[in-house]
Amino acid sequence: MTNQELIKDYDQYVMGTYGRFPIALSHGSGATLYDFDGKQYIDFASGVGVNSLGCAHPAWVRAITEQAMRIGHTSNLYYSEPAMRVAKALCERTGMDQAFFANSGAESNEGLIKLARKYSRDKYGAGRSKVVTLVQSFHGRTVTTLSATGQEVFQQHFFPFTEGFVHVPAGDLDALVAAASGGDTAAVLLELIQGEGGVLPMDPAYIQQVAAFCAERDILLLLDEVQTGIGRTGSLFAFEQYGITPDAVSFAKGIAGGLPFGGFLASEKCSRVLGPGQHATTFGGNPIAAAAASVVLETLTEAELEEVVRKGQYIQEKVLAMDSPYVSEVRGLGLMIGVVLKDIGHKDLAKQLNEDGLLALTAGTETLRFLPPLTISYAEIDKGLGILARRLVV
Ligand SMILES: *Cc1c(COP(=O)(O)O)cnc(C)c1O
Repeated sequence: MTNQELIKDYDQYVMGTYGRFPIALSHGSGATLYDFDGKQYIDFASGVGVNSLGCAHPAWVRAITEQAMRIGHTSNLYYSEPAMRVAKALCERTGMDQAFFANSGAESNEGLIKLARKYSRDKYGAGRSKVVTLVQSFHGRTVTTLSATGQEVFQQHFFPFTEGFVHVPAGDLDALVAAASGGDTAAVLLELIQGEGGVLPMDPAYIQQVAAFCAERDILLLLDEVQTGIGRTGSLFAFEQYGITPDAVSFAKGIAGGLPFGGFLASEKCSRVLGPGQHATTFGGNPIAAAAASVVLETLTEAELEEVVRKGQYIQEKVLAMDSPYVSEVRGLGLMIGVVLKDIGHKDLAKQLNEDGLLALTAGTETLRFLPPLTISYAEIDKGLGILARRLVV
């Protein structure tokens, strides 16, 4: 089958809810992928921050295959070894107390919201259910996580929404305090680097002040680390670099290196809030996805995370050294990088780069976004930067 044949049938039978690049990826290795016509691509996108070990990582393939031959699904009515291993590794490495497993980012964030509302209701009774989130945030596409999302472009067609969400500008402590001070607030939910919003890192001082305010009022601090988590920023979770500990934190995208998996971790303060029958999901903790997640976590040693930091700095320096008239800023942490553009549309540039053989993403209204596999090689990085330079250097 050729790209064009596949695309034609796809567009006929699959809903057009995505602005797709006209590429059908077929196979690959590491950060080097091929489409159905045999054309090569360097992957600076990793399926939107998902393929953290790149394509077809041998240990990942082996773990999935072996688990599939043993047992592929058990349901949460029974105990499961692969899920136990992932929960244990995550808690031991973060100091968090317990995990809940889900299948996607939105679902993981829904769990955070339910956790916070129940925590508050158990302790303070009804009427303390508000969740304060940030303008320009992105928390998912379900009706409730869209309510949490502070970007009208995603929301417009789908009202009415779940009640009890308020958005305040990122970085404005006074606005957050004002919104959360009425005695009706259960939680603050935020991303430490707003990914979809434009790769916008929060100021650590602001985050520390928010954490202190939340602790003082017993308002849960919930972090959405669906994009920043699992090594993406050079630490297992980005909060480690912000000098704070959340009450609960969600993860998804990169955790299982390409299989649908997610969930959240809760600190001791709120880890026993949800009891039997109060939260569930059929596929949560699936053994095959969990076996894949264990390989991801084992691969992300401290040394590997330091490499993520170094590769991120290398990419940022090389892009800045291009001295491009189209680049106004390069920002991000680890291998979550935003190249802020001027005088060229971010969508147009991403389309050109994809055509040229570099898979790159966009974010916000003017940012080119790179989320390469965490295991990308320097040779692949240099190849990708070479393709970028042909468009950015004039
Ligand atoms: C991608 C993303 C989500 C949504 O994840 P899905 O798996 O698409 O539901 C939520 N929050 C953040 C920060 C994300 O980057």
